[in-house]
Amino acid sequence: MNLHEFQGKEILSSFGVRTQRGIVADSAEKAVEAAKLLSEQTGTKFWVVKAQIHAGGRGKGGGVKLAKSLEEVKEKASNIIGMMLITPQTPPQGKKVNQVLIAEDVYYPGASETSEFYMSVLLNRATGKNMIMYSTEGGMDIESVAAHTPHLIFTEEIDSMLGLMPFQARKVAFNLGLSGNAFKEMVKFVTALYTAYIKADASLFEINPVLKTSDDMILAVDAKVVIDDNALFRHPDYLAMRDIREENPIEVEAKAAGLNYVNLDGNVGCMVNGAGLAMSTMDLIKQAGGEPANFLDVGGTADAERVEKAFRIILKDEKVECILVNIFGGIVRCDRVAQGVVDAYKNMGDAIKVPIILRLEGTNSKEAKELIEQTQGLNVIPATEFQEAADKVQQVLKK
Ligand code: GDP
Ligand code: MN
Repeated sequence: MNLHEFQGKEILSSFGVRTQRGIVADSAEKAVEAAKLLSEQTGTKFWVVKAQIHAGGRGKGGGVKLAKSLEEVKEKASNIIGMMLITPQTPPQGKKVNQVLIAEDVYYPGASETSEFYMSVLLNRATGKNMIMYSTEGGMDIESVAAHTPHLIFTEEIDSMLGLMPFQARKVAFNLGLSGNAFKEMVKFVTALYTAYIKADASLFEINPVLKTSDDMILAVDAKVVIDDNALFRHPDYLAMRDIREENPIEVEAKAAGLNYVNLDGNVGCMVNGAGLAMSTMDLIKQAGGEPANFLDVGGTADAERVEKAFRIILKDEKVECILVNIFGGIVRCDRVAQGVVDAYKNMGDAIKVPIILRLEGTNSKEAKELIEQTQGLNVIPATEFQEAADKVQQVLKK
């Protein structure tokens, strides 16, 4: 589950990671109130107005603005709230901004220069270990640092039994070129960050930039936090942070119906039971010259009602030109799935305008075939073999 910056920072703070402080607001008036309150709490003279959407690169897209007076806070907040913010990480039309974070200005002048670093904590799937990835090149697009100056990116792998060792935290601070108090602060920062990552059951922390302030404090200016969905049952307070306005509406509906559905860009809808079969069905569609419009695993207990629900969800995507149903009846009975197809036609009537290529193999496949053959008015193309199903998808797409 993805979180907003302000939520990620809340989680980091709760584990003692120092962050740029802020208050969230959903109107220009509330933004001004937030700015006043923040100044009382922190003594900040300026404020940063930051769009809260589930995407990075907001600064370059005009979603992060410094305000030097309360009038400017009002003006900038009212410009940003409600805008469609376009960044390299949003869909082309952008994402609507519903709220802004009013944050303290942490780039104030002082005894030394400020520096921006990059730091993330994530799982290295190749070694099965967590790692801290960090760089002196903070505040920039890390993908281009990786492409042009990969030697400026360091990684520190962590033994899961031992956890982050003190020498490793010191190594990070050393490689970032820090000394004196900033060095000590960085050691504390890294240690708290790793603890937070483990305790929060996160699958990604990405802090870009981590800032060394002009008075040698180390803090998180930005926070991309992803929590492992499979661990959310342990964190009801994080689950309550879910913002479904940021999610694909079709996926939200599918989740509520208990279906494993991921919306994709293609033109062939798929309804499959089992994640493995769903993956190979998507390969099959590609080989047939199509592009999958979705990943959908109806699960091992698909009955007529679930199948009908799945049809409704697939058909919400207007790009779908045909649907490939590929079910292997193990525990699932094929005749129940066939009944679902028949019911969907009965109940949805004209809404199903695209042909359905239907492959039902395994338990009760004979009964399923009979049911389909006996029912009038279905736009169904039956297939027995896997390849045959692919060929039929190809034929439909050619028309
Ligand atoms: P992103 O563009 O979505 O990654 O958003 P960030 O939270 O990283 O902010 C973008 C940029 O805004 C940062 O890299 C900083 O340069 C700038 N910024 C963030 N906070 C402050 C601040 O307190 N003061 C000033 N002057 N600039 C800031
Ligand atoms: Mn950032």
